[in-house]
Amino acid sequence: MKDFQKLFSKGTYLPLIEEFYSLQGEGLHTGKAAYFIRIGGCDIGCRWCDSKYSWQYGRDSLIKTEDLVKKIANKGYKDVVVTGGEPMMYNLELFTSLLKKADITTYLETSGTHPITGIWDWICLSPKPQQPPLQEYFDIANELKVIIYDVPSDFEWAEQNAKKINTPHLFLQPEWSRRKENTPIIIDYIKKHPKWNLSVQLHKYIGIP
Ligand code: SF4
Repeated sequence: MKDFQKLFSKGTYLPLIEEFYSLQGEGLHTGKAAYFIRIGGCDIGCRWCDSKYSWQYGRDSLIKTEDLVKKIANKGYKDVVVTGGEPMMYNLELFTSLLKKADITTYLETSGTHPITGIWDWICLSPKPQQPPLQEYFDIANELKVIIYDVPSDFEWAEQNAKKINTPHLFLQPEWSRRKENTPIIIDYIKKHPKWNLSVQLHKYIGIP
């Protein structure tokens, strides 16, 4: 992947793993239609990651940023969710400025571990304990989404992040493989701590990408 760094430094190319039109399945915007762009590469390595296929990519994944935006705009999509992998490993200034010129609303899913680039209408911060977010994300994120896998330590992690962040939109989301055992525990936790909301990966329950 080092070979590609020159191409990425100005944001003129991006490693595109997949793109699809679907409904948002997590967080505050659940149920809204959006075009998803999954960018390859991630240096966080969550053991429960459900998009491990995005960690590696090859030359055939590279796409010219301008071409990608043209394609999205020509199809008439008005909302674009950029996810990964970890999108902030790349310079997304060019990508998002072209999207904004096309009057497209931009949503980012990030773990917040790399300096922010780009123009974002909505930032979902999903912090990971093994590599905590940079401070700047706590000031600008629009929602906090904490994945609950290990109980109770992930609740403690969630509270640490909630103390720092500057948004009222706080979500706890059961990690998919442990949803059966952890969802009731999370519901009980939210009843006792009602500043939190439940997020449940709706897209997986209803079988859409
Ligand atoms: Fe997977 Fe996201 Fe964790 Fe990266 S940060 S390993 S893409 S869940």
